Amino acid sequence: MEMWLKEAQIPDAAMTYKVKETLIRKKTKYQDLAIVDTDFFGRMLILDGIIQTTIKDEYVYHEMIAHIPLFTHPNPKKVLVVGGGDGGSIREILRHPSVEKAVLCEIDKDVVEECKKYLPEISSALDNPRCEVFIGDGIKYVHEHKNEFDIIIIDSTDPFGAAEGLFGGSFYKEIFECLTEDGIFIAQTETPFYLPEVVKRVYNDAKAIFPVTKLFMAGIPTYPSGFWSFTIGSKKYDPENVDLSNKIDLDTKYYTKKLHKSCFTLPKFVEDLIK
Ligand code: SAM
Repeated sequence: MEMWLKEAQIPDAAMTYKVKETLIRKKTKYQDLAIVDTDFFGRMLILDGIIQTTIKDEYVYHEMIAHIPLFTHPNPKKVLVVGGGDGGSIREILRHPSVEKAVLCEIDKDVVEECKKYLPEISSALDNPRCEVFIGDGIKYVHEHKNEFDIIIIDSTDPFGAAEGLFGGSFYKEIFECLTEDGIFIAQTETPFYLPEVVKRVYNDAKAIFPVTKLFMAGIPTYPSGFWSFTIGSKKYDPENVDLSNKIDLDTKYYTKKLHKSCFTLPKFVEDLIK
């Protein structure tokens, strides 16, 4: 018998994936968690019916959310990831030798535990001695830490439930205070095809607080529409105009120094959206 996973992406559109095996399915304190195995995409983490990451295409998201800010900052030493319990962002962050400490603040301990068990390719760096895993609400954590992190990465679920407060002006003010004086923040900010109003609002909220605000796109096959946005707020450095010539070369699959500059060139409809 064939098993198909159907992900409703908007009320009028859904994607389906052929599933080989369900490895785990449970209700955690915060969400419905599943990890399934598929032929084409390999193992997938699914929260509340929404695909979070897959073995096949996770590198796009994790390389771009980590390397764009880390290569923009001249000397990132301390990095905070809010959400990101699968560990993919931490894995990429720790490839930067300047990073002394990376803190993961994930609200749901089951995400961390099950990803360690079933997705070791993504989660292995969570056991690195330079990584500290803190289980708790990122909103509270950011509020309680001031002037501490060079980079903050918001690697969250979509703006509903526990993640709702991670999108918007009042949280970005707290992030500004949690960052060091030349700090940079980045967030995954949804797709302009399906959620244009979220992309626009988040960009404008960040722009009202950060001297430099930029939006870039990446192609992620298993995210709704395949066309995903990230928003950067920076106190000092412009990610589009940074000199990358003396930066180390990492063995990546999506990120390149050339792409670092070109990803900020936006299609007309996205440019218009954030004008
Ligand atoms: N790459 C993913 C995406 O865009 O689909 C995000 C993956 S990551 C697993 C998202 C994580 O954010 C989830 O594990 C969720 O538990 C966590 N999260 C949601 N709200 C949170 C909050 N307020 N504080 C900390 N973590 C949060």
